[in-house]
Amino acid sequence: MKIVLQNLTKKFPSRNKKSPGEVIAVNDFTFEIPDGKLIGLLGPSGCGKSTALNLICGLLKPTSGRIFFGEDDVTDLPPEHRGVGLVFQSYALYPHLTVLKNITFPLENLRGADKLSKEEMEKRALEAARLVQLEGLMDRKPSELSGGQQQRVAIARALVKTPRVLLLDEPLSNLDARLRLQTREEIRRIQRQTGVTTVFVTHDQEEAMSISDMIVVMKEGVVQQIGKPQEVYDEPINLFVAKFLGTPPINIFQGKVSGGQLYIGEESVLPLRDVQDQKVTVGIRPEGFILQEDGPLTCDLSRVEVMGRDISVVSTHPSSENASIRSIINAETKVDPDAQTVRFALKPRKLYLFHPQTGERIHFTAE
Ligand code: ADP
Ligand code: MG
Repeated sequence: MKIVLQNLTKKFPSRNKKSPGEVIAVNDFTFEIPDGKLIGLLGPSGCGKSTALNLICGLLKPTSGRIFFGEDDVTDLPPEHRGVGLVFQSYALYPHLTVLKNITFPLENLRGADKLSKEEMEKRALEAARLVQLEGLMDRKPSELSGGQQQRVAIARALVKTPRVLLLDEPLSNLDARLRLQTREEIRRIQRQTGVTTVFVTHDQEEAMSISDMIVVMKEGVVQQIGKPQEVYDEPINLFVAKFLGTPPINIFQGKVSGGQLYIGEESVLPLRDVQDQKVTVGIRPEGFILQEDGPLTCDLSRVEVMGRDISVVSTHPSSENASIRSIINAETKVDPDAQTVRFALKPRKLYLFHPQTGERIHFTAE
């Protein structure tokens, strides 16, 4: 089932007494979520992710705009008639009910023609439990499960009514790091296996990048960029998106373009074409640095961190916006950890220019 959002907007009265007025939590969303795909809705806390999800599931009514599931306009339908499965950060399980009862719970309320026999409910619950690999734990209470298992019960419960759309709001935030990794792989597997169109909300860019077919990057209620994770990483549309994606994060410098050369400080670090002389903000991905004895960018070496496959060279530069510059270099490269300075050549495809005031990307042609 594809989902179409059409000029979707949600305004709230401000909760901040000092600045009364309105908060535009979701501002004019127009995009399509293709059938059977997993979409990562990504952005910092407060950017409107949960609001967007709650509009899709019907817990909130939009101020304006429409929502379609396939060809159906569901904007005025209550949540229970939309066919959505929901999973939240807090698993919200019933503590006094077994895993089985927790999973069958959404089926108990079916009435009329949809009403199911006890056997049918248990059969469906077992199918859902099998998907999340919980079938051996059906008689336990939530308190007898780990956090990861509890979240899997919540996922099974969301799947038991075979929803048209699965919506997950920061489902991994309460899990420890290892379980987070494992559970996100599992969500990916379940999504592939069921083919249910899924929207996965997270503030964690790595999480979104690793499991999504497409990511939607948001800032202050406004969609910044939509695309495949690698495409958005490789071609960020503005400084915000460039900074939001990637670990370690992109390194930011103040620079200028003059006479077909990019300058950082006094050094001419890259020849380029098609950019007028102007001040620019320069972003360089950690993997965009090449250690080179006669490289054009000179930085003060702070330390060298060995990370196994790679080494991280940490340095500083007066034009750097970050306190330290992180570059990731192949571990076979020799670095003298006692040197005062390091010199880098730069990979043009890992270097981005932005307008220093608006943050908009400035495209250039590498020489
Ligand atoms: P996120 O999930 O990305 O952290 P939210 O969607 O929860 O963000 O919130 C987006 C913005 O809308 C925030 O500024 C938040 O304070 C505001 N907001 C959310 N819900 C309400 C509400 N019920 N009343 C007033 N403001 C709200
Ligand atoms: Mg939220």
